[in-house]
Amino acid sequence: MRIEADFECGNAVVERISDLEAQLSIRADSNAKFYQWFYFRVTGEAGLLRTFQITNASAASYPHAWNGYRALASYNGTDWFRVQTQYTGGKITIRHRAAQTSTAYAFFVPYVEAQREQLLADCAKVGERRHIVTTPNGRAVEMIVFGKPTAKNKVWVISRQHAGEPMAEYCVDGLMRRLADEQDPLVKQLFDADIAFYCIPNINPDGTAFGNLRANAEGIDLNRDWKQYVEPKSVEVGAVLKLMEAEGVDFLYDIHGDEASQYVWLVQPHAELVTPENKPLQERMESFVRGRYAEYGPDPVYDLPANPSDSLPKPTDSGMAIDYVAWRFKCPTLIVELPFKDTIGDDTTIDSLQPAGCIAFGRNSVEMIAEVMLAQKN
Ligand SMILES: [Zn+2]
Repeated sequence: MRIEADFECGNAVVERISDLEAQLSIRADSNAKFYQWFYFRVTGEAGLLRTFQITNASAASYPHAWNGYRALASYNGTDWFRVQTQYTGGKITIRHRAAQTSTAYAFFVPYVEAQREQLLADCAKVGERRHIVTTPNGRAVEMIVFGKPTAKNKVWVISRQHAGEPMAEYCVDGLMRRLADEQDPLVKQLFDADIAFYCIPNINPDGTAFGNLRANAEGIDLNRDWKQYVEPKSVEVGAVLKLMEAEGVDFLYDIHGDEASQYVWLVQPHAELVTPENKPLQERMESFVRGRYAEYGPDPVYDLPANPSDSLPKPTDSGMAIDYVAWRFKCPTLIVELPFKDTIGDDTTIDSLQPAGCIAFGRNSVEMIAEVMLAQKN
């Protein structure tokens, strides 16, 4: 067999390989120590049971997240399915009898540049496509403005601050395509209520293309780069923040993936940063998601935090976009975390948050945002 990972979003280093077994490791993010995202392609005779062992799994950013995790595989890059995966002795072992000669294996279903370009091109027929900044590696961070740019109220949607969380981009894809539907009565109602949407489907295209887990090309974790009274270190956050200052922000929706949880959960801004007027709105969003999704779960509490800092109280100036924007613009903010693992929804929707489920979640998020935005106006 042959194993390749030298392609967009690819990440795996082959250490040892024979006909039926390979030992691999995951490469750390560019200029940073994070790692967990993997994506590689195997070619060889069909019908043979092969074993792929990821030898450095126990030192990944969230090692406890491997428990109960099953890798995804695909023959055609479009249809993905879970394969037998075990985490024992600090190593991940994937066993699979491929029915075809070429099979991709990944941490989650990748979302690639061609999909993003199609999304932006489709949405630009209705919204306004804007170039925000060129990254250190020459990629464009772009956004679509839906509704009137002169609107009084601005909803910002940011996705994929963390490079290796493609579920976030499927989610924003669903959200943006709904906003591009001029026939949708709720969307029309939002635009008529003088609300515009500023949607950035991928704020970290370098890190995404490199197959990073979290960082951009320079090794910066973008969702720790929003610090009070400190200039952002990354050009990506710096440019978005400048634009926010120019345009204003009335709501921030920041979309992520969570390695460990088997469900959807929400990260609220630090309580001290939430104004009394925004508190009920924050709670309303939580109850919206809780009421609608069997996959909803509470803020996870881990037995063994990956990093000692995870167990400490979070500071108000966390560097997270939701905290910064809540502080600076005094508006509601929210992170949604979608799972890498197969989700237990209800009897009929096991593994319901693969891409189609993330897209549907994004579409439904428009309703959650509408509740908050229209409530503010009443
Ligand atoms: Zn994230």
